[in-house]
Amino acid sequence: MRGFLCLMYHNVVPDGAAFPDLSPSVTSYFVDASAFAQQMERLGRTASSLRFSDIETFFRDPSPNRLPSGAHPPVHVTFDDGWLGSVDLAGEILEQHGLSATLFVTTGLIDQPRFLGRGMLKCLPPETFRIGSHGHSHRFLSLLSTDAIRQELQQSKAMLEDIVGYEIAALSVPGGAADERVVRIAQECGYRYVFTSRVGDNTLRTGPFDIGRLAVKRSTSMAQFERWLAGNILAERIRARLLRAIGRVLGQDYYGKIRRRLLRECPHQQEMTDLYRAAQKSSNEETHGCELEPATGELQCVGG
Ligand SMILES: [Zn+2]
Repeated sequence: MRGFLCLMYHNVVPDGAAFPDLSPSVTSYFVDASAFAQQMERLGRTASSLRFSDIETFFRDPSPNRLPSGAHPPVHVTFDDGWLGSVDLAGEILEQHGLSATLFVTTGLIDQPRFLGRGMLKCLPPETFRIGSHGHSHRFLSLLSTDAIRQELQQSKAMLEDIVGYEIAALSVPGGAADERVVRIAQECGYRYVFTSRVGDNTLRTGPFDIGRLAVKRSTSMAQFERWLAGNILAERIRARLLRAIGRVLGQDYYGKIRRRLLRECPHQQEMTDLYRAAQKSSNEETHGCELEPATGELQCVGG
């Protein structure tokens, strides 16, 4: 393996905590604090960890030896959504092991119960957390109109830059629903890095606009995690390849329709959008200037 690996976490929660109001489609992405601590201890001990700035250097600097050498591929840690536990539980564990992470925040969920607030985002130690965008309403971007995608990406970027005071250069695409159009618009909006759910390592060939990640879930075993750290992601790649092959056999149009239907009905996606809707209902909708139009799923702006 010649590149680096990215891990995709969502939330770190107290051991054994129950979330009866959330469905398993969401909580299956929550990792217990003890499991996360064990994984970060192993990561810190066996692999080189990359900071976001190392990834910037890797893609910018054409000289050789851009990545730390070693038996294991270097690894970058990311969190999606902006759950509170990704900072208040994970932060201390990352610091204990001298690690850092990129935190992709869904701006429509800022200040909502269980999610990070503006005050906390403003005060995050930059050596531990770098902030990126995860869109505004957590909808699948590839299903939206060009204008709606642009609005999602511009609005979340501007909100986050206003909060943290530095350039938001990285986007993580909700649900991994990135296609050429989404990436092009992201570039037009000023993003320089797009993190996806592609299963694979990241090299100069794959480039900064398709940074693949491995999803660490509650069900991820330590043996599986250690296999990933050793650079062995063959099983995951074969599974992803099979899914792509099914798409080719069925034909792209047909597969696209099925995929779109699946994505629309994806329970995880539905629940994240529901959380966003609840957030909009409970707070003044004019706080963010926009609300979801239930019939079309489009973001409608009120008051400009
Ligand atoms: Zn997400």
